[in-house]
Amino acid sequence: MSDQSNSPQPTLQTGEELYGFKVLRIKTFPEIRVTAYEIEHKKTGAKVLHLHSFDRENLYAIGFRTPPSDSTGLPHILEHSVLAGSEKYPLKDVFKELMRSTLQTFINAFTYPDKTIYPVASQIKKDFFNLARVYTDLVLHPRMLKETFLQEGHHLEFTTPDDLASDLIISGIVYNEMKGAYSSSDSLIYKVLQENVYPDSVYAFDSGGDPDVIPTLTYEQFREFHRTYYSPTNTRFFIYGDITTSEHLVFLSEMLSGFERVEIDSSIKSQNRLTAPRVIRNTYPIGKDESLRHKTMANIAWMMSDNTDYETSLILEIISALLVGSAASPLRKALIDSGLGEDLTPVSGIEADLKQLMFCVGLRNAQSSDVQKIEKLIFDTLQNIVENGFDNELIEGVLHQVEFHGKEIVRGSYPYGIALMGNVFQTWLYDGDPLIGLDFPLAIKNIRERWTVDPQIFQKMTKQWFVDNPHRVLAIMEPDADFNDKKEKTYQNKMAEFKSSLPESKLAQINAQAKELKKFQSEQDSPQAAATIPKLKLEDIPKSIDTIPTQNSLIRDVPALEHDIFTNGIAYVDLAFDIAHVPEELQPYLPLMGKIITGMGAAGFSYEEMAKRIALKMGGLGYDLSTGFSADAGSTWQKVIISFNALYRNLPDAINILSDIIFASDLSAEARMKDLISERKNNLQSAIVPSGHIFAKMAAGAALTVPAYRDEQWHGRTQLKFIQNIANDFGRSKQDLRDKLELLRKIIFNRENLVINLTAEDAGLKIVKDNIPELLDRLPASVTAKTEAKPSLFPVSAGISIPAQVSYVAYVLKTPAYTDQASALLMISAKELSNNYLYKHIRVQGGAYGGMSSFDQSLGLFSFLSYRDPHIVETLQIFKDAQAFYSQNEISIGDMEKAIISTIGMVDKPLDPAGRGYIALIRSFAGINDDMRQKLRNGILSATPRKLKNALVDYFSLATKSASVAVYSAPEKLNEANKRLEEKLVMENLSDE
Ligand SMILES: [Zn+2]
Repeated sequence: MSDQSNSPQPTLQTGEELYGFKVLRIKTFPEIRVTAYEIEHKKTGAKVLHLHSFDRENLYAIGFRTPPSDSTGLPHILEHSVLAGSEKYPLKDVFKELMRSTLQTFINAFTYPDKTIYPVASQIKKDFFNLARVYTDLVLHPRMLKETFLQEGHHLEFTTPDDLASDLIISGIVYNEMKGAYSSSDSLIYKVLQENVYPDSVYAFDSGGDPDVIPTLTYEQFREFHRTYYSPTNTRFFIYGDITTSEHLVFLSEMLSGFERVEIDSSIKSQNRLTAPRVIRNTYPIGKDESLRHKTMANIAWMMSDNTDYETSLILEIISALLVGSAASPLRKALIDSGLGEDLTPVSGIEADLKQLMFCVGLRNAQSSDVQKIEKLIFDTLQNIVENGFDNELIEGVLHQVEFHGKEIVRGSYPYGIALMGNVFQTWLYDGDPLIGLDFPLAIKNIRERWTVDPQIFQKMTKQWFVDNPHRVLAIMEPDADFNDKKEKTYQNKMAEFKSSLPESKLAQINAQAKELKKFQSEQDSPQAAATIPKLKLEDIPKSIDTIPTQNSLIRDVPALEHDIFTNGIAYVDLAFDIAHVPEELQPYLPLMGKIITGMGAAGFSYEEMAKRIALKMGGLGYDLSTGFSADAGSTWQKVIISFNALYRNLPDAINILSDIIFASDLSAEARMKDLISERKNNLQSAIVPSGHIFAKMAAGAALTVPAYRDEQWHGRTQLKFIQNIANDFGRSKQDLRDKLELLRKIIFNRENLVINLTAEDAGLKIVKDNIPELLDRLPASVTAKTEAKPSLFPVSAGISIPAQVSYVAYVLKTPAYTDQASALLMISAKELSNNYLYKHIRVQGGAYGGMSSFDQSLGLFSFLSYRDPHIVETLQIFKDAQAFYSQNEISIGDMEKAIISTIGMVDKPLDPAGRGYIALIRSFAGINDDMRQKLRNGILSATPRKLKNALVDYFSLATKSASVAVYSAPEKLNEANKRLEEKLVMENLSDE
């Protein structure tokens, strides 16, 4: 192994010219082990940035500046459409083909307010260059067929094809996607702020598309936008990973050959500073039965400095963290303690992805008449800070967080390279220094120096950019129970009027065009077209599983798992306590227990002091409730897992803090407890519209297995209703709540229940093991009585009404055990369904944003799901048709290979160090060992169309007998569906009275 504790050795020289490129600059960043190359393509002026590292998950991203000039969603529709196909790869949907036939670890496209980025990543070099090659061709030479524009953008169709008397409607994937976005209060607030803080810039438009404006976009405009902005001259290539720079340049020179430099002005103009504050009033949708009281949201947003002025930006980001970043933040605290609203709005904080920074802060669930009081409170608090300064420990805590997060290797659902890319584009897009944000040790050093020279720097900047800054907007959002109805009615009237204005012949033409589109969508690509996509062979796929180093040990008498993994000087500690024996009536309290004990004061420290200690010594502190079946499905397990991470030097202090939280958290501070409950309630509530399919899956799954029942009880609508009751009844129930939490603490926190999981390098592991016994000694040895709580389950058909313009449909079945032979085949079939049948019928033809299937052995669920879907009944029918299709037909060898590759891609998804340690812990609970994992992999690799079909015939015929259905949608849509459904949905309402 090479020395990976430093940056890779530079392989080129500044000023060097090769393959038509010139190396402009080389810089090493030892703290993140990266050597950066800033390069330009001489002929076209294309900019290239390569961050060379030791990471084998290589990332390639093509970025364009794409400033919109209206809200038709042009950049967004283009983003969807270029990935459909190019002259060289003339398929109908190349993106989908890449997704299902490569070992991509990430493939996506993002439309931002001013740029569009197309990233792909893979751990296999051959696969990486295949992906990069196709992606580059797609964006630079797309076919941009009219059909693609109609499908992705907007088109007209009749609700009943061929029936010209039926309603005329607008459909399109982006159109429906944005209808979903415009139903979410969080995205609406953000949109209103952005539009009004930057009224004269490109940010006044919605690059994603306003559903009311999308239908005005023409095919010609769409093609023109591509001609203007998608040229190499306007391109920034961001590349990250362990492949050498020269290999990338050889590849890029081929991709860019034939292009010339073009004249283009895509620069993002700055918004002129406003000289007086503005006030904006707007509305957002809530449920019909919801009370309108205490539902106002008031936000203030300021426009700040230019993003390219890095040091000012960083200080403003620090001030933002000081003001609202933690429970100890004075502005957050003042707002919450005031009781004027329930909690901060989710947009609170700094937005650094725009040319000029924006800071927002606001309260949600306030009274309309209190808006002025809120505004005054915000300014009084800021003024007070300007006069008296920030607490020094708070500042130290924020600086520690900057250092910690700069160092930490994180890969959640995004590759680590994506995080670095985001950082780079913040300055690079506006012609600033792309590397400046990567050098966080230098940045912290500079800021510390400025702080030493001028101890008042943070308060002075608060005065300049907040108190004395007139460029600000007060946005007041009022609830409107008729919001969606009004929108729907206006739309229907408009469409009816439009329809009546058209002659019969025109209607017939629309119908014919819609039918042609459907025909286009259902046609198969020709084998010649399909063969153009470079493919991996099954031989290219690694045959064996990736293992995670794990050492079993005992610390005192407590079992521990130790994972010696490179973590860049950070230790990850998980304490997992068994909760299977927690009595049924206490189970719903478990999520609150985590939220409350980690958020209250402890051991004589107030909650603000605890928040400060945590920010100063830990990178993060969290808790998770996790459950699942054992590998053979013979039993289930349930755990609460308390996790924290810290730099090695801070481990002893961090362990002390955790100890205080577990043993001495103080449940007496009533106001704080109430705030934490509201915060949890609101977060859960606003999570529904953005991830309705997950909620629908939880609701349906809860009827089938105990782990899924718990998942719904802890994280689904059952938990939301539970917490709504607690919040509404807090005055009367608080003592009872406290008693229950105390009881839980007694039942859960003891040594017999505990497993410790440690992830760090050897040096870090040692420090934890030296310090954690002190915590263990404080834990009582054992519990008294153990009983296992068992809820009773039965299939459901639930229609859950929410204020949304689109639906989320889930149809869920029970799965066999992990070790069952069918598991590998069901995993493959979930991938095949998602990539093929459901994608085609629900997304491409149905116009939903997503149609997918998932196989979740842990919860024991096989699911069919739709996301932001205009249909309910049709979608449920498609789920049934899909089962029939796969039970009757063998898929082709080609489809089989792709399904195998994408299944392996999912299994091999890379994890960050914390994720690797964590998953090893979860596997240990399920009793899943490497032998079983290898068997499952062999089962995937040896699957055949015949085996798949046979497995599915057996599985579907049996499992569908106890299928469970849940739909989240608007009440009118649910009622409409019930008129046509044989098995009626049992209606439920989620609104908070
Ligand atoms: Zn989209």
